[in-house]
Amino acid sequence: MSHRTVGARAEYRRQEGQRSMDSVNLAEKFHQLKSLTVDLSFYSPEGVTRNSHIKYTVNLTNAKALFRFDCINGECVRGDFDLSNELADAVAALRTTVTGKKCCQGWRSKNTIDRAHCHNILRYTLKLSY
Ligand SMILES: [Zn+2]
Repeated sequence: MSHRTVGARAEYRRQEGQRSMDSVNLAEKFHQLKSLTVDLSFYSPEGVTRNSHIKYTVNLTNAKALFRFDCINGECVRGDFDLSNELADAVAALRTTVTGKKCCQGWRSKNTIDRAHCHNILRYTLKLSY
């Protein structure tokens, strides 16, 4: 059994998965970080409807330093939310709370590549302790 065709989305996820596996975990990267809680709300592109909300405490020894979350749009191609830089900046400045918003830069579906962006919105709060 060979898979001759791999969808663009699956291929991107595979590459990102590999990039994630290759990165160190958060405890290794940020020695001073003692705990991290994330609060994530996913909104539709208009930013009005909240489609999903998750909040959890990150296991620093299991979580990878490539700190990314899947877009909730099941058709999204090359999107998703990468908070690696935001987290690194927060730890470097020893901040205890970081809030922000990200807009998914993927394509809404494989049929709209180069035409329609996904633009789902993530609002996040990171709570950190040292
Ligand atoms: Zn998306």
